[in-house]
Amino acid sequence: MKKLGVCVLGCFLATGVFAQHAHGKGKLQLKLEGQTLMGEMEMPMEALLGFEHLPKNKAQSDAMTRLQNAAQDAGYFIELPAEAKCQQKEAKAESSMFKGLAPKGHSDLDYSFHFICLNPQALTKISFPFFKSHIKSHQLKVEWVGDKGQKSFTVRSSKPYFSP
Ligand SMILES: [Zn+2]
Repeated sequence: MKKLGVCVLGCFLATGVFAQHAHGKGKLQLKLEGQTLMGEMEMPMEALLGFEHLPKNKAQSDAMTRLQNAAQDAGYFIELPAEAKCQQKEAKAESSMFKGLAPKGHSDLDYSFHFICLNPQALTKISFPFFKSHIKSHQLKVEWVGDKGQKSFTVRSSKPYFSP
């Protein structure tokens, strides 16, 4: 296996092949339908763990386990205003790495979640606290679909929130 240092050039050149996969950058689709807020996020594992191969030592395997555990709570990734009274109904974290499959150079976290918000009008600011603890995450492209149509936002680690 190549070392991470080699990956800087190798992964950059590979972006044409993995058009959906850019290091440090993820994407999120958020859809609000009535009181139901559904999300699907795709984030490079490199941005979350700093590596995309199967864990090679205890520190790496602990980091992966911590991420899997943290992901059970969608609040780890996305913070909704308390006044919106949202309750998580479902959260599912998937990755080839969690299955112990050796990815061919790249791996993503595919994360889906679902909230019921009793007061969806209060969803005026949506924040992403994970940028603080995952410093290799730099950007999240958000597609928001609400009753007023569709909007795009680019959320960055320097400004980790948006207002739909
Ligand atoms: Zn990658």
